[in-house]
Amino acid sequence: MGKSKDKRIKKLGKKRIWLSVVGLLFILFFFFCIIMAILAASTIDVMQRKLSAGRKQSEKIAQLCEEYEEASVGDMGNTLLTYIDLLPEIEAVSIMGTEGEQKWSSNGVYPDMNRAADLDFLTDMLQLPTRVIVEEDYSRMFEIEDGTIFFSKDVLNKIDYQQLMDTENYFTTEESAPVIYFKVWFVMPAMQGNVMVLNQISLYASDLFMMLVSLAVCTFLLCVFTLYYMISFISVLVNMYRTTKLIYTDLVTGGDNWLHFVKKGTSLLKRKAPNRQWYAMIHLKMRKYRSFCTCFGVREGEELIEKFYCALKKQMHRKEIIAHRENAEFGLLMLHTSKEQLIARVNKMEEALNEVLPGMKFYFGVGVYQIEAGEQDVEQLYNNALTACDMLGEEAENKIAFFDVEMNKQRLWERMVEDDMDRALVNKEFKVYLQPKISTNEEKLAGAEALVRWIHPTQGFIAPDRFIPIFEQNGFILKLDDYMLEEIAAQQARWIAQGRKIVPISVNVSRAHFTREDLAEHIADIVDKYQVPHDMIELELTESAFFDDKRVLLNTVKKLREAGFIVSMDDFGAGYSSLNSLKELHIDVLKIDGDFFRGTEVGERGMLIVSEVIELAKKLNMKIVAEGIESREQVDFLAAQECDLIQGFFFAKPMPIDEFVEKYNEA
Ligand code: C2E
Ligand code: CA
Ligand code: CA
Repeated sequence: MGKSKDKRIKKLGKKRIWLSVVGLLFILFFFFCIIMAILAASTIDVMQRKLSAGRKQSEKIAQLCEEYEEASVGDMGNTLLTYIDLLPEIEAVSIMGTEGEQKWSSNGVYPDMNRAADLDFLTDMLQLPTRVIVEEDYSRMFEIEDGTIFFSKDVLNKIDYQQLMDTENYFTTEESAPVIYFKVWFVMPAMQGNVMVLNQISLYASDLFMMLVSLAVCTFLLCVFTLYYMISFISVLVNMYRTTKLIYTDLVTGGDNWLHFVKKGTSLLKRKAPNRQWYAMIHLKMRKYRSFCTCFGVREGEELIEKFYCALKKQMHRKEIIAHRENAEFGLLMLHTSKEQLIARVNKMEEALNEVLPGMKFYFGVGVYQIEAGEQDVEQLYNNALTACDMLGEEAENKIAFFDVEMNKQRLWERMVEDDMDRALVNKEFKVYLQPKISTNEEKLAGAEALVRWIHPTQGFIAPDRFIPIFEQNGFILKLDDYMLEEIAAQQARWIAQGRKIVPISVNVSRAHFTREDLAEHIADIVDKYQVPHDMIELELTESAFFDDKRVLLNTVKKLREAGFIVSMDDFGAGYSSLNSLKELHIDVLKIDGDFFRGTEVGERGMLIVSEVIELAKKLNMKIVAEGIESREQVDFLAAQECDLIQGFFFAKPMPIDEFVEKYNEA
C-alpha cells in the first residue's frame, strides 16, 4: 500500500477528533473565563458597597472635624474616638500632617503613605471621590495591570484563613472567610490646612453566596455544554469507527477487504510466527469466473464469491487472514509447518469450495509464496504468489505452484521486453537471420527461412524463444511479423534489382494473425509494395491456428495460394499434430519438426513414421521440408525417402543476411 494513501486514510479519521477536542477545550476555557469574570465582578461589587459605606461614614467624621475647627489635634482626636464606635465601618482614625507626619491615632496605627501610589487604580475603578491608601493586604485574588485583570489561583491557595480568623474579628463563620482582604484608609480634607484625617476601613470580599450562585450557574452551563460536546465527541468516534469499518470492508463479500489484509498482514508478519510454523502468502483464483458470470449472471457470480469467502474463512485458523481481492481472486496469509501440510490444507479448501454449489465443479489456480523471516511487504509477497500462479496457465485444472526465484527473473525479463519492444522496432534492433533450406538431391540452396534475432543495446544478442512467446501474448507479434515480411520483401526486391537469382524465403506467421479476415490481402499489400513475385515468399503457419478460427484460417490459406504465395505448415509432428488438419487444409509444404529426428537413430520407429508421413504428403501433393537436421545419417535417410528440402544445423545455422550472401554467392 502506498504511503501517501496510508496517510490520506489516517487523516480521514483524525481530522474530526481534533476538531472536537479543540472545540471542547475552547468551551472549557470560555467557561473558565466567565466564572472568573463573575467572581471578579461580584468581588468588586462587594468591595464597592463596603467602600461607599465607608466613604459615607468618613464624610460624617469630616463633618465632625469641621465643628471642631478651633480644637487642637489631640482634642479633636479624643472627640472622634467616641464616634468611631457608632460608625460600624470605621475601625481607626488617624490625623497626619500634609507631609506625612504622624500627629494622632485612635489605636496608634498610621497608614504607610508610600503605598498610596499603588492604589490609584482602586480610586478609578471604584469611582471614589478621594484618594485611598491600602495596607496589610494579606492576599490579592487578582492583579491589575494596564486595565487587565489577572486571576491568580496561587494567591487564593496561599491565604491562611485560619490565621485571618484568629487575628481579626470580622469573620464569624467559616463560610464567610474572605477571598480578599485588605485595609483601606480614606483621606478626608481636614479643617486645619496642615493636617488630614484618615479613616481606616477593612475591605474584604467574603460574599461567598454570590460567588457560589455564579459558580453554580456556570457549572450548570458548563455541564450542559460538556455533555453536548461529549455526545458529539462520541458520535464522531462512532462515525469514525463506522468509516474505518467501511474502508476495510469488501463490497462483494462483506468481509475484510484487501486494504485490511495488507494492514493486518503487515502487523502479523512483524510479530513472531507461532512455534515451528511459517507464514505462506497464497493467491487463490477460481478459473473461468468470467464464463460463470456469462452463463449465470454477474450477481450470481458475486454471490458465489461471497460463499467462497465464507467457506475459506471457516478454514482459517487464529493468526491467519483472508481477503477477497478482485474478480474471483483471494489472498490468504496462512501458517504451515511443511510444504506437504500446506498442500493438504489447500486441497481441503478446494474441496470445501466445491461443496458451495452442489453439482457444480470449480477449478482453482493457487500460487504460494513461503515467507521468510523478516519479510513484511505484503503487496510484494502477494505479487510473488501471483507470479507463481501465473506460471500455471489457464487450463481448467486444480493446480498449485510454489514461487521460486526463477519465476521472478522471468517476470522481470517480461517487463524489460515489454518496455523495450516498441523502441526496438523503431530502432531496427530486430535483425533478420536466414537459415538455408537445402535440396536433398543436389544439396544446393533451394530456399531459406527468415528468423528474427534481437540485438539489444544492453542485453546484446537475444534468441527468439526468449521474446516471441511474450510478443504472442501481448499482441506485439503482429507488428514484428509484418516487419519481418517487409524486410524480406525489401531484401528480395534488392536482390532482384541486383540481378541475382533468388530463392523462396519463408517468414513465420503467428497464429495471432488469424483473427483478421483480410490477412491475405494485408500480406499481399506488403509484398506488392516491393513488387516481389509472390512465389518467392513462403508463409509458415502452425497447426495451432486451427484451434482459433478455423474458417478464417482456411479462407486465408485459400486466398494466399490463389494469389500465388507458398503456404507451409510448420512444426508438423510437434505437440498435438493431427493428420486430420491435413485433410482440410490445402497447403504447399509440410515442414516436419526437428523433434522427430532428435535422439532417434535411423531405422527406429520415429524414422518409420517420418517415411510414412513423407509418403502421405507426397500423395497429397505437398513438398516436404525436414527441419532440425543435424547429421549426415539423417540427411541420407531423408534423401532416400525423397524428402525435398532439408533445413538444419548440419548444413547451416541461421545467419545474418551478409553472411548468407557471402556463403551462397553463387545463388
Ligand atoms: P521455427 O519456426 O520452428 O524455426 C526453426 C527453429 O529451429 C529456429 O530456431 C532454428 O534456429 C532452429 N533450428 C534450425 N535447425 C536446427 C537444428 O539442426 N537443430 C536445432 N536444435 N535447432 C535448429 P529459432 O531461430 O531460435 O526460432 C525459434 C522459433 O521462434 C521459431 O521456430 C519460430 O517459431 C519463432 N520465430 C523466429 N522468428 C520468428 C518471426 O519472425 N515470427 C514469428 N512469428 N516467429 C518467429
Ligand atoms: Ca518456422
Ligand atoms: Ca519449425
